[in-house]
Amino acid sequence: MIEDMLRTPAAVQDSERHTAHNYHPLPVVITSAEGAWVTDVDGNRYLDCLAGYSALNFGHRHPTLVAAAHAQLDRLTLTSRAFIHDQFADFCRELAALCGKDLVLPMNTGAEAVETGIKVARKWGYQVKGVPAGQANIVVAEGNFHGRTTTIVSFSTDSDARADFGPYTPGFRIVPYGDLAALTEAIDEHTVAVLLEPIQGEQGVVVPPEGYLPGVRRLCTERDVLFIADEIQSGLGRTGATFACEQEGVVPDMYLLGKALGGGIVPVSAVAADADVLGVLKPGQHGSTFGGNPLACAVATEVVRLLATGEFQRRSAALGERLHAGLRGLIGKGLVAVRGRGLWAGLDIDPALMSGRQACERLMERGVLAKDTHGSTIRLAPPLVITEEEIDHAVAQLTAVLAG
Ligand SMILES: *Cc1c(COP(=O)(O)O)cnc(C)c1O
Repeated sequence: MIEDMLRTPAAVQDSERHTAHNYHPLPVVITSAEGAWVTDVDGNRYLDCLAGYSALNFGHRHPTLVAAAHAQLDRLTLTSRAFIHDQFADFCRELAALCGKDLVLPMNTGAEAVETGIKVARKWGYQVKGVPAGQANIVVAEGNFHGRTTTIVSFSTDSDARADFGPYTPGFRIVPYGDLAALTEAIDEHTVAVLLEPIQGEQGVVVPPEGYLPGVRRLCTERDVLFIADEIQSGLGRTGATFACEQEGVVPDMYLLGKALGGGIVPVSAVAADADVLGVLKPGQHGSTFGGNPLACAVATEVVRLLATGEFQRRSAALGERLHAGLRGLIGKGLVAVRGRGLWAGLDIDPALMSGRQACERLMERGVLAKDTHGSTIRLAPPLVITEEEIDHAVAQLTAVLAG
């Protein structure tokens, strides 16, 4: 520990001094970035294989997005929703079209989109489905990650995320992820929604078994329950499609979006659903001062336009093949398992070799930034602008780290 401190550069120590220790960052202090690369205060360059947990799907400072932000900063930044601004309609129309839904409700952070989804589902339950007052329940999955608010951590199964933050919000039922029989069992006449990540990112990029998501869709339709897909991390190109649900041929009743929607520039999140669902909200019942602000809309509209070309989804699918082929080659050579889809991978390192944290530290020393999640699992989620050569470079550095 003391040795660590002595080796820790002053800039790293500075950043810890007046900060709550709610993160354990890798000891790198970044000062600039472009595309898939970041530069630290000493001028060292690193390939960013985390991409802000997928908030940077289009890379750092994508020129189109930066230009949109600059132009908007020079015109109008904030009105609040008390007034209408000229960036709002295009954003909502184009995002709704991308989602194939009637309506969009813009918020800021992912957790706010999840909270919004929960509130809308409950109101829908009481007003449309006819659930008796105060009786609504929502079914969620073990190993979920939906954010950090008091209600959301109430149904987390991660003790770090949950312990000592009670009393907890009632109204949630937790079932094993990927288990359709358990889900069927958990749904009753008071269930208003099933809230799931189509791939569990934080849990280690866990892909559910074949047929699970279509099964959830069928079940929700049969039982008059809303299927809420939290695509905050899995959506917007990450898996090689606009939505991870799409790859299973599934259309949820509600998409929760965030992270990449803000283009790595501003926090932008949204809920997208049809009018019979989102239409339950009336003025005064929900909102956010910054939700759908002009700067956010200007940037996010360009994000939607980048996605509408399909280019990033195709890149993610094609380059993802290359990434996964490279990683699969390391199974038995330091890796125990590789999961994921597109440019998204969860790797289980042989715990006898090193922890996920140690692997990430060694990767950092070799100029590749990634993040451990649980124990010996690390997650790779490079920006979708990464090239074939850069993927090969990342895999080569991982190979070297695992070879010791
Ligand atoms: C990151 C994330 C969230 C929370 O988003 P914040 O912007 O950090 O509040 C919710 N759900 C999923 C699946 C996420 O990955």
